[in-house]
Amino acid sequence: MAVTSSSSMLLLRNFATAGKIAQSFRANSRIFSTGELIRVLPRIGSQRSICSTRAVHNEEAAAKAAAAVADTGAPTIFDKIIAKEIPSDIVYEDENVLAFRDINPQAPVHVLVIPKLRDGLTMLGKAEPKHVEVLGQLLHASKIVAEKEGILDGFRVVINNGVEACQSVYHLHLHVLGGRQMKWPPG
Ligand code: 5GP
Repeated sequence: MAVTSSSSMLLLRNFATAGKIAQSFRANSRIFSTGELIRVLPRIGSQRSICSTRAVHNEEAAAKAAAAVADTGAPTIFDKIIAKEIPSDIVYEDENVLAFRDINPQAPVHVLVIPKLRDGLTMLGKAEPKHVEVLGQLLHASKIVAEKEGILDGFRVVINNGVEACQSVYHLHLHVLGGRQMKWPPG
């Protein structure tokens, strides 16, 4: 899983309108690079533990499937986004970095910041000294995104690394999240 969200129950309690409930539902959906869409039902009453367990299993399964091909060097969905072969909602772009909205947002602001050239950076755990410059550029771009999105006073940057962190796309990416109160620990 990219970023865990234990907030659906809270959101359901707090959201007054049907539109906001729909937003909560969307925020608990995931589309993986395999194209698989997994929706997690709102955690209501007895469904709560069943649904959250199912979500965890789905996300873990997707993470394992993605990891299995991670070292093949196979292109990911992000290569197509960089090449503009598939559309994305771009928030910021420069020579080295692309930032676009996550298709399955876990917060009102959820932007992915990626290097345009993967250069072996399938995940942070593969970082080498030659990547230091681009790693700095990614962090700096995350700050620019937060500024552009009006969340500079409170935002979170997340990198999921490997199966145990539920990484599902093997092209390094930073999640920039904000626009709501974050919880800690993240789960
Ligand atoms: P990870 O789980 O690897 O940390 O994060 C991968 C992220 O990529 C997920 O949050 C997922 O929603 C997002 N994602 C997967 N496919 C697409 C896509 O085609 N377009 C966009 N904008 N985001 C995607």
